[in-house]
Amino acid sequence: MDPSKSRVAAGDAEPGTPSPARRPRPRTADGVAARQDPRPTIAEVAFNLPLDKSFHYLIPEAMRQTLAPGMRVAAPFGPRERIGFVLKVVAESPVKELKEIRRVLDPRPVIGEEQWALASWLSTYYCCSMGEALATMVPGGLRLRAGAGPAASGTPPAVLVPDGTAAGGGGLPSASPVPTGVVMLTAHQRQALPPILEALEAKRFASILLFGVTGSGKTELYLQAIDRALRQGRSAICLIPEIALTPQTTDRFVERFGGGVAVWHSRMSARARSRDWMRMSDGACRIVVGARSAVFAPVQRLGLIIIDEEHEPTYKQEDAPRYHAREVAMARARLAGAAVVLGSATPSVESYYAAARRAGGVVTLPERIAGRGLPAAEVIDMREEMSSRRRFGPLSARLERALAQTVERGEQAMLLLNRRGFARVAQCKTCGAVERCARCSVPLVYHAGRRELVCHYCNFHEPPRELCRQCRKGYLSFRGSGTERVESELHRLFPVASIARMDRDTTARRGSHRELYEAVKTRQVNLLVGTQMIAKGFDFPQVTLVGVVSADTALNLPDFRAGERTFDLLTQMAGRAGRGERPGRVLIQTFCPGHYAIQAAKAHDYLGFYAQEIRMRRALRLPPFVHLIELTVLGSSLPRVEEAAQWLAGRLRRALARRLPAAPGKGATRAAQAGAVLLGPAPHRIPRLRRAYRVHLLLKARSVEAVTPIVRRVLAPGRKAKGLPVIVNVDPL
Ligand SMILES: [Zn+2]
Ligand SMILES: [Zn+2]
Repeated sequence: MDPSKSRVAAGDAEPGTPSPARRPRPRTADGVAARQDPRPTIAEVAFNLPLDKSFHYLIPEAMRQTLAPGMRVAAPFGPRERIGFVLKVVAESPVKELKEIRRVLDPRPVIGEEQWALASWLSTYYCCSMGEALATMVPGGLRLRAGAGPAASGTPPAVLVPDGTAAGGGGLPSASPVPTGVVMLTAHQRQALPPILEALEAKRFASILLFGVTGSGKTELYLQAIDRALRQGRSAICLIPEIALTPQTTDRFVERFGGGVAVWHSRMSARARSRDWMRMSDGACRIVVGARSAVFAPVQRLGLIIIDEEHEPTYKQEDAPRYHAREVAMARARLAGAAVVLGSATPSVESYYAAARRAGGVVTLPERIAGRGLPAAEVIDMREEMSSRRRFGPLSARLERALAQTVERGEQAMLLLNRRGFARVAQCKTCGAVERCARCSVPLVYHAGRRELVCHYCNFHEPPRELCRQCRKGYLSFRGSGTERVESELHRLFPVASIARMDRDTTARRGSHRELYEAVKTRQVNLLVGTQMIAKGFDFPQVTLVGVVSADTALNLPDFRAGERTFDLLTQMAGRAGRGERPGRVLIQTFCPGHYAIQAAKAHDYLGFYAQEIRMRRALRLPPFVHLIELTVLGSSLPRVEEAAQWLAGRLRRALARRLPAAPGKGATRAAQAGAVLLGPAPHRIPRLRRAYRVHLLLKARSVEAVTPIVRRVLAPGRKAKGLPVIVNVDPL
């Protein structure tokens, strides 16, 4: 059977006029039966596909009384069955022969009133279909039990957690405020808290940037703000960058609020997820701590969203709809009249710029608690090191000496190198050929422990060959250090020290991250080497030395955020030293000691960094002064990809010129004044990935909402250019 035919038979709801912005009215099952006349027999269903269309299906007799918008259904789609969301229930369809819905998955709608509005915003802003937006908001594998009330009603049924197995095992069936007088706040904390509480009391949308150096006590302020939201009868969501990597943060929430906290993360079972979802949507659970996707948690009467470490790139989702949790939080808080608190020691340039323009937008915690100073940082010029030493390894003489002293004193040290594996490049000693991935245009990384060459993009791996595959004469040499290489160097230098490595290779097994964390905490480990994983939120009082093996890994990327990333990472890493009684020391190795990001990180000077960075962004018309929208054309044949990208660029340029009202002005500046400039097509930074060639276009626009409808129209239907898929990435990182 021709799949496209059966799709037509299923029926386009409104051919040619997809309208994701229009909000379908959610109704209870009773409401549908009462208000619809003539009797509705047709459901309009949206699927998790890059298609700006919804489809009509006949509702079987037995389902007509109960089926309502916001429920998930299984329906035939082409040769297979798909899960979709019911947008509306209607009486008529222009399509004659409709297929029938096969099953209804939910006893009640999983999409409430507020979620409809948020899905609509997601779809408009991120240029995705309504089906993709809805599927992003509802976790896969969600199973609701029958008998509970509709999601949107907000009235908690009597018993929902009979066994007291709430997340964290606290056993409290609902969140009860805990007295907060027990915690002594510092003077700075006492000044920072009132503006946050006032924003909550106003019960209107507000956002506050809590700019606090590492170790300044931001978490205590989060806890107090959540406590206030609970006392108001409202709910709170706290987002943290990577839940598996920061067990101690979630511990503090559970300690304070007990079983009233749902800890939401990607590794939880479908059963636990469904149980917590029910508790949230019924109002029984009012505090959620989780990673990115917790921003969609179906809590009732939302009062507060906290985003800890708001600058972290993990808040951006890399699959469609490629949302940023911070942007979603802002949109959701606007809809709910809630307050947003963004916390960071190194705020994103976008957030600081936006907050600094509002009176009272920035609240500062300038000091570490208990009067502990920030550790002294030293920059080591690796160019000198390279010319002065005969044997050049990953560790400079100064860092080596500092490590030896730390080991002698029985203290702990952490070494950061943001590259996994042993050697970054495997190259033939005779002809110079570099071992590359067969599917991606990147070099393979040598992992000594596995004795394999690995592609870090597609995971292709193979053992290294005896002889070069090109000239069949030479042997491979391994250059460029990764964490494995540094680990083996430490073993060589300090044979009696206890050394551990923390990166994605050593933490792949469930629970292994926590074990490593405990081993460092209980001082079974003297020296810890790792990727940026170890820069995040770790609080080890015995760590007195932090070494950055190479500050240049991010700096060398062809990305306008290279300086910002470097500054963030160095600052976060420096913050790991000297958190206990003894002062800390930070050594930063670099080939670019004069770079302003490195100099500012050395001086713990965020505002100095920001001043330089914002000047550069303004001059080059980069975010936050414009939004970027990246369009990537994918395909297995490079000429076809290039042709499609050219075609798309032409269509888009014409559409932008036609649709955006040009300001009265002259020539080249007109499009810029109207708010949009299209750059490209140009090859992607990694021109080939997983066998697909990639060519991209970059749109710079002052307003995302002004240009995404134009992009959507040019790409419709199915987000394609000349038959090739196009990835739309709004505000790419
Ligand atoms: Zn060779
Ligand atoms: Zn690859």
